[in-house]
Amino acid sequence: MLTGIHFLLTYTCNFACDHCFLHCSPEARGTFTLDQVKTTLKEAKKTGTVSSVFFEGGEPLLYFPLLVESIRLAKKAGFSTGMVTNAYPAHCQADAALWLKPLKDAGLDFLSISNDSFHYGDNTENPAATALMAARQLELNTSSICIEQPIVEQPELETPPEDAAEDETGKGAPVVGGGARFRGRAAEKLVGGLPRRPLACLKSCPDEDLAAPSRVHVDAYGHVHLCQGISMGNMWETPLSKLIAEYRPDTHPVAGPLLKGGPAALAAALDFSPAKEDSGGYVDECHLCYAVRKAALNLLPGILVPPQVYGIANP
Ligand code: SF4
Repeated sequence: MLTGIHFLLTYTCNFACDHCFLHCSPEARGTFTLDQVKTTLKEAKKTGTVSSVFFEGGEPLLYFPLLVESIRLAKKAGFSTGMVTNAYPAHCQADAALWLKPLKDAGLDFLSISNDSFHYGDNTENPAATALMAARQLELNTSSICIEQPIVEQPELETPPEDAAEDETGKGAPVVGGGARFRGRAAEKLVGGLPRRPLACLKSCPDEDLAAPSRVHVDAYGHVHLCQGISMGNMWETPLSKLIAEYRPDTHPVAGPLLKGGPAALAAALDFSPAKEDSGGYVDECHLCYAVRKAALNLLPGILVPPQVYGIANP
């Protein structure tokens, strides 16, 4: 059951992190207008099941007045509210309070702060840490998101298979830790030197419940993302509540194959041939899924969108 709407309030970001799913950067375009936020909130209400709304990006603090008003409207409509930020303007706790307090007053229930080496290098006394302390002083519910550079870990097995890399089950094969998911820019920037698995082994989607999504991401272009860059449809053409009510995962051209047999089945459905540099396989399911989708962009217009999420400038 769909319970959450996550607004990609803007694709623009002050950073361009290597692990970003969405290729966000200072050059990325696509920011909601206030009218679009209002329309989306109305439609979310119509579903009868959505209870929470998140604002993220990109960096939503870049559009501070829009963010404050969007949170106020969401709260007034009866949703619980949250946001994700890298907290870049938190030069000191007093400065952090300058933007945290209006957000709290507008009705922000939950604040999630990205604090990791992709954003702030090895500097632990960074704006994210400062904002976290200031938010706690204001008694805001907080958490921090920490994604690290990929590291290769060898799982402990009582009897390792003779040739772990060839094991179809993946048992005994090295595991890539650190928390990054290899889609978006991460699939292009972070996979070098990491162990790979054969395409045929990547038979399930690890992160998204495509059969019955509990949340979707929406962007200013109207795309309703099941996973970043996979659209259910366009909410500026078909109202969001109707799109959700009429979503049929089995007949969706990307979700359908993924549900049947993961990225391997999607590759077969879209007649995908791996690039030469990927002849040794893929780091994980998302790496293959992203590669297949990027190669098929022209085959599924309106579904594999927007191009920017695939590292290609929007027309
Ligand atoms: S396998 Fe594809 S749909 Fe599933 S989480 Fe990874 S990128 Fe998203």
